[in-house]
Amino acid sequence: MDWWISMPKVELHAHLNGSIRNSTLLELAKDLGEKGTIVFSDFEHVIRKNDRSLREVFKLFDLIHIVTTDHKTITRITKEVVEDFAAENVVYLELRTTPKRNDSIGMSKRSYMEAVVEGLRSVSSTSLDINFASDDPEKSLATTEKKIYVRLLLSIDRRESTAAAMETVNLALEMREMGVIGIDLSGNPTIGEWGTFLPALKFAREQGLSITLHCGEVPNPVEIQAMLDFLPGRIGHACCFQDEEWEKLKLSQIPVEICLTSNIRTETISSMDIHHFAELYKAKHPIVLCTDDSGVFSTSLSNEYAIASNTFGRYYVIMTKSYITLGLMDPKCVRDAMLSLGRAELFELAKRAVDFIYAGSRVKMELIEIFESAARTLG
Ligand code: 5GP
Repeated sequence: MDWWISMPKVELHAHLNGSIRNSTLLELAKDLGEKGTIVFSDFEHVIRKNDRSLREVFKLFDLIHIVTTDHKTITRITKEVVEDFAAENVVYLELRTTPKRNDSIGMSKRSYMEAVVEGLRSVSSTSLDINFASDDPEKSLATTEKKIYVRLLLSIDRRESTAAAMETVNLALEMREMGVIGIDLSGNPTIGEWGTFLPALKFAREQGLSITLHCGEVPNPVEIQAMLDFLPGRIGHACCFQDEEWEKLKLSQIPVEICLTSNIRTETISSMDIHHFAELYKAKHPIVLCTDDSGVFSTSLSNEYAIASNTFGRYYVIMTKSYITLGLMDPKCVRDAMLSLGRAELFELAKRAVDFIYAGSRVKMELIEIFESAARTLG
């Protein structure tokens, strides 16, 4: 087994519906096509398309929501997504999803989330032990041997009003005993104003929920500054930052959830070798590799580690040397430019992500033990 699959990993940025298996999505779409709810051929084309712009990705999400928004399907997807992450040795997963209301089928934000929780409960593989919190999310962890720890973040969609965002935060507070530990702000970054979500995010933080924000997916300096001033526990992406914003980010030490494949597929970053991962890694800024939407972007967390290793470990060195040969880079700078990013460094990167999880100290300690034991076994 490749080392990037066998080593333990921590996933902190995974959207439930974006992580749907392609086979499940096609099956569900086919069913709805047969029932006449959608025209399957229109749908199939969109699902099978590989490179999508950010705008097309959000169109695809609207389509995905047509086929996935009923309780039974949400339960199934949750179960499959957790099993898929566990199968590639993800030992801690923070799964995020936008609670949805659909009056026509009697779905409330709460019943949507109950369907998610039902999915966690129904994870069936015998090799899998879901650390699903009961009364005390911390206490429930110590009792049995654990394979994967799962915690939930509720997403506020940027299309939502302040009242709807507040409803999501209140739901998160009500569902804390079911493993909900934080709030995410996501959805189409070209829509919505920071000021709309701020009251709900402030309230969430006052109540002890952790916050992560999608930040800088499109150039929006005013919003990026405001988000950094808010000091969220983590941010996702950070693709369209200017010098001033990089400086502020580095000073703040806010951890960044890096989604390599997603950023390339959505053309938020034009090519992998110029991805800000390298710069942040070199600066020792807190970062964590994540998938974003493993289904939509046909990736996995293991694959993201393999890409980081191949791009910044080997290719990056070759590229740097070519620059010197072409006279584009002073040989004296080569040491600075090169990243040593082999197996040991990526293992450390995965282990360091434990510092940025939103679960408490007991879970962190257990995860560190898992990593230390893996280090001894994997050598
Ligand atoms: P869900 O919340 O329905 O489980 O997961 C899909 C949703 O996550 C999308 O509709 C969108 O709101 C959000 N999402 C998924 N990927 C991205 C991304 O790359 N950027 C942003 N801003 N939102 C995303």
